[in-house]
Amino acid sequence: MSFSKLGLSDPILKAVSEAGYSKPTDIQKQAIPIILSGRDLIAAAQTGTGKTASFVLPMLQKLDSTEGELRSKSIRALILTPTRELAVQVEANVAQYAKYLNLSSLAVYGGVDSEAQKERLEEGIDILVATPGRLLDMAYQRALYFDDLEILVLDEADRMLDMGFIDDLNKIIDRLPSERQSLLFSATLTDDIRYLADTVYDDAAEISISPNKKTTPKINQWLITVDKDNKSALLSHLINDQQWDQALIFVEKKHSSAKLVEQLGKRGITADSIHSGRSQAVREQILEDFKSGKLKFLVATGIAARGIDIDDLSRVVNYDLPYPAEDYIHRIGRTGRAGASGEAISLVSKDDFKNLCAIESLLGKIISRKEIEGFPVKKVVPISILDYLPKRR
Ligand code: AMP
Repeated sequence: MSFSKLGLSDPILKAVSEAGYSKPTDIQKQAIPIILSGRDLIAAAQTGTGKTASFVLPMLQKLDSTEGELRSKSIRALILTPTRELAVQVEANVAQYAKYLNLSSLAVYGGVDSEAQKERLEEGIDILVATPGRLLDMAYQRALYFDDLEILVLDEADRMLDMGFIDDLNKIIDRLPSERQSLLFSATLTDDIRYLADTVYDDAAEISISPNKKTTPKINQWLITVDKDNKSALLSHLINDQQWDQALIFVEKKHSSAKLVEQLGKRGITADSIHSGRSQAVREQILEDFKSGKLKFLVATGIAARGIDIDDLSRVVNYDLPYPAEDYIHRIGRTGRAGASGEAISLVSKDDFKNLCAIESLLGKIISRKEIEGFPVKKVVPISILDYLPKRR
């Protein structure tokens, strides 16, 4: 199936083709016609499935077809994202796909001076991408109005709830006109998400893109069992022995990222880290260096790494296994993007066993194990029980 069958206009098709997409992904095939029809939509889809284009493309088409005078400080579409990195990334996609349309877009997020953002809002913006906190700030300061809002998107809604944005979201939603189209994208549709959806959405269509589909076969996943205190030595060994060109390395806690950077440094490997404790300017610079290849090894907490979008990232490493299991899918989705192949390697110690069971149960398969000479394991990691259901923590 080609994009032209989805009812998108020529300027959008041209931008899509210039982006190098030859055919729509599953989520795009399903979501685009629903959104064009004007229905509300709730979609379970991970990062890496092409979900951003699945809501941005029909949104552009709708806004373009009803283009009118933009009032000062008004916005016509609002995309809420959990992190500033994702806001920047989504806005960059909007600008890319809207290249041949006369629609404006802007990302607003915290951690930077708000004056420039306010100035841009002054003339009105067609598509605003925002993190919830900064958006509310702007609304309180009367820097923008929602009366002309036509479309609302909650992107990575599960992550917004995990990050404690529910009150902010409700405050924002209360301010929006009730006549609007609402779309929600989330890695999983948990009870909390469904509850939120019930309050926001009207007769919504629901679609679900299976995570399995997305992780097969392009991402080569494997794991090594290792004693916890041997992890950094093993990682250094793998980097040197297998001559890795680049890796995004995930840790669970922000203090462990600094420690790991130091441990790698002692073994002659230059790495840097991004986490929520570093300033926006520093994070942006590090990301830039990582994207350009100047920095080869980036250690990140899961939250800070949201929104990192590097098409040819060849490898991600789970230095710690994430909880909840869905985060594993998010993490490995950073590699093997847009048809490229990628590798996802997990270093699993006995402490990670419950998380491993949950991840392998979600994937519906056991991740293959490799043994690395010189790293014997004292605390053996058992084989998972595949119907493991984690208790809420
Ligand atoms: P997302 O799930 O929105 O984070 O998108 C993941 C990646 O897939 C991004 O790098 C997009 O540029 C890319 N992408 C989106 N749609 C397509 C498509 N139809 N064909 C190929 N790549 C795509």
